Amino acid sequence: MTSEEINNEAGMSLREAYDYDEKTSGKGGGFFSLKNDKDTGVVRFLYESDQDMDYAFVHRVKIDGKDRIVECLGRDAGCPLCQSGNRSQLKLYLQLEHDGQVKVWERGKTFIPTMLSISERYAPLFNKRFEIERNGKAGDMKTTYQMFIMQEDEEDKKQTLEDIKAKKIVLKDGKSKLILQLTPEEMMQAIDGTFTLKQDGEGDQGQQQEQNPQRRGEAVGGNGEQVF
Ligand SMILES: [Zn+2]
Repeated sequence: MTSEEINNEAGMSLREAYDYDEKTSGKGGGFFSLKNDKDTGVVRFLYESDQDMDYAFVHRVKIDGKDRIVECLGRDAGCPLCQSGNRSQLKLYLQLEHDGQVKVWERGKTFIPTMLSISERYAPLFNKRFEIERNGKAGDMKTTYQMFIMQEDEEDKKQTLEDIKAKKIVLKDGKSKLILQLTPEEMMQAIDGTFTLKQDGEGDQGQQQEQNPQRRGEAVGGNGEQVF
């Protein structure tokens, strides 16, 4: 692990981010995954209910040769990536505690009904633990997950919403987090293959960062994608 790699955390692909987290095992920020059939994990979701769950409409885009997650600017709002034929997908980015670390579990649209049912039955979720079981071999596209609520323990009783909120990871903030937020112009460049997150043109990077609060507002205006 070189210092350059650490500095460029924002430029990592999903796989690299995962490996990086495995190696450094810091406070969190890694992905939760169950790799093989019948693998299980006990987790605590960092949410009250479905109302505060993290989700986003995202595109997969090659940036600097790596697959990156880019937030959609709105299917009906002229998002350049949508218009280029790159279909946006609704994804859950479930924040949970697992083995003492805060991790993100990325799940597709088909998992949303499951989380809605869990929320309906068990909210608030943060003072409970669930065992998740994988059903499907590694690489099986039809893999499903079952969830079982655990018996309440002393740790569960101690959980407060404030503590849970403090543990959460920021998933999007311009170009420095897991979910990248690009301007329409930057998306056009990404489509052309000319957009980069590399630090070489440092002046450019700074400018892009400053534009973000405004752009973020635009991005969430049209179709209720605001998460935080
Ligand atoms: Zn889009």
